[in-house]
Amino acid sequence: MAKAFASQADLAEKKITFTRLSENAYAYTAEGDPNTGVIVGGDGVMVIDTQATPVMAQDVIRHIRTISDKPIRYVVLSHYHAVRVLGAAAYNAGEIIASVATHEMIKERGREDMDSEIGRFPRLFRAVESIPGLTWPTITFDRALTVWMGALEVQLIHVGAGHTRGDTIVWLPSQKVLFSGDLVEYQAGVYAGDAQLAEWPQTLDKLRALRPEKLLPGRGPALLSASESIAGIQFTQDFVRRLYACAKEGVAAGKSLRQIYQDARRELDPIYGQYPIYEHCMPFDVARAYDEASGTTHPRIWTAERDVEMWRSLEI
Ligand SMILES: [Zn+2]
Repeated sequence: MAKAFASQADLAEKKITFTRLSENAYAYTAEGDPNTGVIVGGDGVMVIDTQATPVMAQDVIRHIRTISDKPIRYVVLSHYHAVRVLGAAAYNAGEIIASVATHEMIKERGREDMDSEIGRFPRLFRAVESIPGLTWPTITFDRALTVWMGALEVQLIHVGAGHTRGDTIVWLPSQKVLFSGDLVEYQAGVYAGDAQLAEWPQTLDKLRALRPEKLLPGRGPALLSASESIAGIQFTQDFVRRLYACAKEGVAAGKSLRQIYQDARRELDPIYGQYPIYEHCMPFDVARAYDEASGTTHPRIWTAERDVEMWRSLEI
């Protein structure tokens, strides 16, 4: 039987964990589903990545209300992906903050991405009808922005390209807590379908240089020590390097996308095959790696139609 498209057959609900990372920082994690970060400052709360729908975001709010009754002032979008941003309306935050590059990507491909992601992974869009439309930032910044939440310094940094062209991390320098968005995944598939693969490893070196002592990845468990944080960065860096090396070698040898896909599966399945969403990610990852290795620097836009067409060409 043909493998089901993307994650359409993934229907099992995940268990939510809400973990305190430091005096002010919390992690909302879900066994490999998208994570959300929470910072409670002197004057209010910041949410980092929203969940996919307002109804799903209500569960984050329920958890926040177990630790604080302060207003939710800020929503930060680590990047433009629908599954991270489309729950934003639930928070009624004063400001929605993203990098300029993320804002550009929402303008360029937000609508197509929304339709594509909903088709790929229906379970992650519970109560999809509660999404009021695209999420637009109210504040954008080019390289870095500091938000003072009372006395707490919160740095938003667009460290460079990687998972997308607009990735933003959130860093608490006084507590050495890092929220990486999908730049780092741990014990989960790494989605690279919209990535800048050549740059991603160097961008991760900048995260390493911060010397985080706690790290909330985009997917996977919260990392609760310096060594675990480095292991998370390394996990992603290794995957990205291996994936891109497969594509570069294949393109140099004149192989087709389908041949390179089969080579990449042979090499990467034994290492990453057991992790959630790996099977979902690989066709998109190899398609993007093949494009970049062939000279397409700006990722082509995925649409619901292109998704299915590509999947058929590789998986059947
Ligand atoms: Zn993403």
